Amino acid sequence: MTEKSELLDMRWDGWGDPARAAEKLPGGVKLLLTAVLGHKPRRSGTIGLAEVELTGPALDPADEQALAAVVGAEHVRTDHDTRVLHAGGKSTPDLVRRRERRQAVPGAVVLPGGEEEVAAVLRVAAERGLAVVPFGGGTAVTGGLAPEAGGHRGVVSVDLRRLAGLEVLDDVSGEATFWAGTRGPAAEAALAERGFELGHLPQSFEFASLGGFAAMRSSGQNSAGHGRFDAMVTGLRVVTPTGTLDLGRAPGSAAGPDLARVFLGSEGVFGVITQVRLRVHETPVERCFDAFTFSDFRSGADALRRVVQAGTGPTVIRLSDEAETAVSLAQVGSIGKALSKGCTAVVLHEGPAGSAGARREATVAVLRAAGGRPASRKLAEAWDHGRFGAPYLRDTLLEHGVFVETLETATTWSRLHVLRAAVTGALAEGFGAAGARYRILCHVSHVYPTGASLYFTVVAGLGGDMAAAWAPVKARVNDAIMAAGGTISHHHGVGADHAPWLEREIGEHGLRVLRAIKRELDPDAIMNPGALLPPERRPDGPA
Ligand SMILES: Cc1cc2nc3c(=O)[nH]c(=O)nc-3n(C[C@H](O)[C@H](O)[C@H](O)COP(=O)(O)OP(=O)(O)OC[C@H]3O[C@@H](n4cnc5c(N)ncnc54)[C@H](O)[C@@H]3O)c2cc1C
Repeated sequence: MTEKSELLDMRWDGWGDPARAAEKLPGGVKLLLTAVLGHKPRRSGTIGLAEVELTGPALDPADEQALAAVVGAEHVRTDHDTRVLHAGGKSTPDLVRRRERRQAVPGAVVLPGGEEEVAAVLRVAAERGLAVVPFGGGTAVTGGLAPEAGGHRGVVSVDLRRLAGLEVLDDVSGEATFWAGTRGPAAEAALAERGFELGHLPQSFEFASLGGFAAMRSSGQNSAGHGRFDAMVTGLRVVTPTGTLDLGRAPGSAAGPDLARVFLGSEGVFGVITQVRLRVHETPVERCFDAFTFSDFRSGADALRRVVQAGTGPTVIRLSDEAETAVSLAQVGSIGKALSKGCTAVVLHEGPAGSAGARREATVAVLRAAGGRPASRKLAEAWDHGRFGAPYLRDTLLEHGVFVETLETATTWSRLHVLRAAVTGALAEGFGAAGARYRILCHVSHVYPTGASLYFTVVAGLGGDMAAAWAPVKARVNDAIMAAGGTISHHHGVGADHAPWLEREIGEHGLRVLRAIKRELDPDAIMNPGALLPPERRPDGPA
């Protein structure tokens, strides 16, 4: 109902802060790309926001009035710009779609200001036959924010940014309760004022919300020390179309299955997470960075395994393969000259005063014994300094016609190299079939005593419709991941993009259990029809 949007704090057709968008490709990157792609990348024109033609059903005036009666007219947005901003997430195919003239968008964006308003919005949506897509920070990369109506009359994006802030900090227990729309930096700032930290730092940290982290089972770069986001969650409040749940009474409980876990990874299909209770810790005062080189990926991965199994306690430990090491070294210039071969691991130990040194020594001893050679710690500091910068480079590459996308999976240590070979092989076959030149970078991004996740970045010269050319390559990779025993996602989630593979992950019976839970919580199937659960096969319908 308002004319203009003030919600465009993130680039509508790219990543992050519009003020940090770079027009030019760094010279070194341009040279590297010319070698990989066989031609000089050239900047091409992009479409302006005002030129986008909206598709997808608009809401009736009566729908808008019913929603306005609940949240106030100023919190029901139907203007062009706000609808485009809520049309999807930030995967590379999403960004390719943001460059098209005609774009599917939600009919309205609603901004509830409290839990009661969330519940009332769901009631209105169910009564009026509208689908609801919960919207946190809008950083999803697996298609879970697509305005899919699922047979309903229209789609309402429920943006949770007004449900933000620290509600309670229990500094004795080290537990903080936040409203779900709180974004990463705001959560850390509120805790820092009281001497605490959450320490969840995914690369999307600057814009993603705590509710989104819970809904997607996110994993941050400090996961070796603080665990995945789901490991930090001690309680949740969730508003579903059939009622509100308040879950998580005690730090440990044997009161039946842990229902809160049902909503971690639920991707908005069961309801809206309104509050998240989290384990927090005192702000670390010591930070010690180290870097090591290994002759190859296999010996580096084995060293990481030994560290995590010995439990020496780094906050960050990650290993880049040869290709990713070369790119990182190129980015930090002269530091890399002495280290042009092999794989690099970056390590961070942190904690209260006097706590990091002994752990660091123990980790260093394990890495050395496993064949690691100490490298300049500036390498690790440079990684820390630039850790949120790569997504900005993706935009500039895309504007120069270069396709860059990431994908991830996980498995046990004993199967890690089989999985890596399977993904790399599938990518090579897929790009080969597309006739595209490419480069694959890989790193071990998260470690567990029993296994690790592998994170791949692909850079490719895909011509024409890049999203259409990428789809069969990605499908081939997903098949290969399943065949090699990996998970379809370690932390990016299922969304729409991985939904066809969910049955192979959890089995046909597992899928039926999830659908039964959904029927109980969301009998009209209004909640995010495009995410997580693949469309149901009907006995009389097409297979
Ligand atoms: C550049 C970039 C880097 C990234 N790096 C990482 C990384 O390091 N680690 C990682 O794990 N992920 C990463 N991601 C993926 C993404 O940021 C995460 O999945 C994040 O958890 C999404 O949070 P969000 O608030 O942006 O959620 P959104 O994108 O708004 O929503 C994601 C999904 O959750 C649902 N949802 C959102 N909020 C709620 C809620 N309150 N209640 C119910 N459902 C909700 C939505 O409907 C949607 O299905 C990255 C993405 C980008 C673009």
